[in-house]
Amino acid sequence: MKKLLLGLTAALAMTASAQAQSKYPERPITMIVPFAAGGPTDIIARIVGENMSKTLGQQIVVENVAGAGGTTGITRALTAAPDGYTIAMGHLGTFSAAPATYPGLKYDPINGMQTIGLAGGTPILIVAKKNFEPKDLKEFVAYVKANSDKVNEAHAGLGSVSWTTCTLLKGQLGVPKLNSVAYRGTGPALNDLVSGQIDFMCDQIVSVSEQVKAGTIKAYAIASAQRSPALPDVPTTKEAGLPEYQIEAWNGIAAPKGMPKEAVDKLVDALDKALNDETVKKRLLDLGTVLPTKEERTPAGFAALIKRDADKLSPVLAAAPKQ
Ligand code: ASP
Repeated sequence: MKKLLLGLTAALAMTASAQAQSKYPERPITMIVPFAAGGPTDIIARIVGENMSKTLGQQIVVENVAGAGGTTGITRALTAAPDGYTIAMGHLGTFSAAPATYPGLKYDPINGMQTIGLAGGTPILIVAKKNFEPKDLKEFVAYVKANSDKVNEAHAGLGSVSWTTCTLLKGQLGVPKLNSVAYRGTGPALNDLVSGQIDFMCDQIVSVSEQVKAGTIKAYAIASAQRSPALPDVPTTKEAGLPEYQIEAWNGIAAPKGMPKEAVDKLVDALDKALNDETVKKRLLDLGTVLPTKEERTPAGFAALIKRDADKLSPVLAAAPKQ
């Protein structure tokens, strides 16, 4: 009898804990965007987050925590309680480039976080203010080389995607230093590019594609193997004469390590459903986003991508000038 009672108590306790868990999420989830509003990370977070909220039955609230190339916001997110109520939209910069850029970084994207999945591939464009002198990529290369003391370049802080991808570009051009202006995200940087206060930047297609189409800025090339269906008139770097400049960026979701498996599974499922939603797909594709494969939408697939790019970028970035 005593045994039976003990067995019953254990069974009841198990059911109670299963019920408690299956209630996730019981309140809104904060998604930290580590850059200012209006940039690619913010745009993707809001499009995907809105749909994920529907699946989860709780609001995903986007919070912009900008600074230090995105590492301030990601540090905040990854040091929060691992309960599934704080997640982050990071990218190639914060997850693969930052560790090599900041020796004292307070988080470890490879061993110290829970990946959820990739939200979107974001090709890189070299964009300039619309009346910037060089007419095409070849002229741009020659101009930057000849005028490195006066050309202004915008980026979203050390270790950001714009900084990382332009650092690679400058390395290839043999002009490691330009006048760099750091912003809290490429949303605000884009405003200054449109108004002509900045000469050029390298950025993710998502926020610049509309401006390129509207003619308020110009794009010299896309650093991908193929042209983007969202901007079919913009040549690839290979077509435009700089074939060695190839780099793909991306945005994806991660959370503090140690989260309950159930919360991970629900977030992974909500992300997958968002990326299968026709409206979400159209909005992302119209902006030039590349939809992630099934594998890339999984925690393991996303973790493999982060590691692959960290391995690729680390040696180059560790040696690059930090400006
Ligand atoms: N695209 C940005 C970067 O350069 C950040 C942002 O999303 O605003 O890292």
